[in-house]
Amino acid sequence: MLNITQNFERIRSEIPEGVELIAVSKFHPAEAVMECYKAGQRAFGESRVQELLEKIKELPSDIRWHFIGHLQTNKVRHLVGKPWLIESVDSERLLRLIDSESEKAGVVSRVLMQVHVAKEETKFGFWPEELLDFFRKRGFESLKATHICGIMGMASNTDDEERVRADFRQISEIYKTIRDDETLGLRGFDILSMGMSGDWQIAVEEGADMVRIGSAIFGERHY
Ligand SMILES: *Cc1c(COP(=O)(O)O)cnc(C)c1O
Repeated sequence: MLNITQNFERIRSEIPEGVELIAVSKFHPAEAVMECYKAGQRAFGESRVQELLEKIKELPSDIRWHFIGHLQTNKVRHLVGKPWLIESVDSERLLRLIDSESEKAGVVSRVLMQVHVAKEETKFGFWPEELLDFFRKRGFESLKATHICGIMGMASNTDDEERVRADFRQISEIYKTIRDDETLGLRGFDILSMGMSGDWQIAVEEGADMVRIGSAIFGERHY
């Protein structure tokens, strides 16, 4: 706990202006979040619905929560209306469900589409072609209560820096292809969320304007 403020302030000072820091507090207690909050942080990331709902109850209401975990369909109705941004929309089915539950709840959900480029089999997300196809077919037009704000992605979990850079570059290219396609007429599509504790510098070099940093601020997680 003692180091959270110091860790946070060091990372905050290293992140360039124009890049938003999301402090990933999953598996850490509310007191840890509070310490970072007192140091000035307002955007936090959580990966489990139950944990997020508990923290929302305990912690200040001006925190902007980012949901970054795999979202199970049976949890969607409990989540909508709570986070500032759902970063981990990993299938069209999930997107449609978020949309219908948001409409029912009378809220608008802001989301990022998660793209999968990493080599691990376990990671969730749209395949690049699948995501481009979704936009080309204008799948976003039928959304009633959901706004797609950009893209989230992760690099392969490896020490090979060139591999990591290549992954981030690919995510960045997909993002720009969609953002810069004027025929799509997207508005407010301007967030590229990529980079974690071990690789955020590379992500920023490759164009990230949002980074999600957990262990480098809060220490190791005990699952
Ligand atoms: C846990 C998590 C992070 C933070 O990871 P650290 O390595 O602890 O910084 C970032 N993004 C996602 C999607 C995560 O699940």
